[in-house]
Amino acid sequence: MILIGSHVGMNAPDFFLGSAKEAVSYGANTLMLYTGAPQNTKRRALKDLNMDEGWTYLHEHGIQDIVIHAPYIINLANTVKPEIFELAVQFLTLELKRSTAMGSGILILHPGAHVGAGLKAGTRSIVKGLSEVLSACPEGFIALETMAGKGSEIGRTFEELAAIYDGVAENSRLRVCFDTCHVHDAGYDIVHDFDGVIGHFDRLIGKDQIAVFHINDSKNERGSHKDRHANIKEGFIGFDALHAIVHHADFASIPKILETPYRPDPKRPGQTLSPYKEEIAMLRSL
Ligand code: FE
Ligand code: FE
Ligand code: ZN
Repeated sequence: MILIGSHVGMNAPDFFLGSAKEAVSYGANTLMLYTGAPQNTKRRALKDLNMDEGWTYLHEHGIQDIVIHAPYIINLANTVKPEIFELAVQFLTLELKRSTAMGSGILILHPGAHVGAGLKAGTRSIVKGLSEVLSACPEGFIALETMAGKGSEIGRTFEELAAIYDGVAENSRLRVCFDTCHVHDAGYDIVHDFDGVIGHFDRLIGKDQIAVFHINDSKNERGSHKDRHANIKEGFIGFDALHAIVHHADFASIPKILETPYRPDPKRPGQTLSPYKEEIAMLRSL
């Protein structure tokens, strides 16, 4: 059976138990969450998050694993403001320890943005930061996410990700999160030639390094570098290409996570509704 789920929240008062219930309510059999608000580094103590209750609930519903996404304010590639790099290393170290303590083997990370210093300087900084974090944490994997190439984001090409792998001594603890919207926006033709794109990835990094897929359509044409996620059936990638990726034989055991946008609620102006139950069902069906 394919593993498919979505991003879920983790909010008071139920915290992880609420995340587990949310995932199950969507018919998911995997899930992704942030350990707190993605835009800041404030985190609650693990003991307050109902971890045991949440895991019991997941196990009762046949769910065995979760993935965690690091907050997107972490920027290991910032060489312009050293304090940002230092904060990124410190917080990512805590976040990797926290992820493994929460029961996730995988922490997804946006590699970083060089903010004008150039790809080389940014990549060197990412390598240094990852090396420090991995040596400070005895366990856990960091999955570098493929990026759309918005602004000065690093990780737009597979070559850029491969350069990070090449620099990190402990690269056996790196993995990749393949985001379909980002790869499409970066310029790869996953609509007509997913196998060709994966072949290219395989030669540079190894397709066995893909630990998670983010399944999103894109509001923009291939190569736009915009990073605006679209709902399933509503973007430039299209349902057929995404469905084929979800059911691809090479990645049957790899979790697929939706991060598509919430929709306006027709009954409550200004409110939104989760699209995940319907989208998971659509993508799961044969
Ligand atoms: Fe991401
Ligand atoms: Fe993503
Ligand atoms: Zn995105």
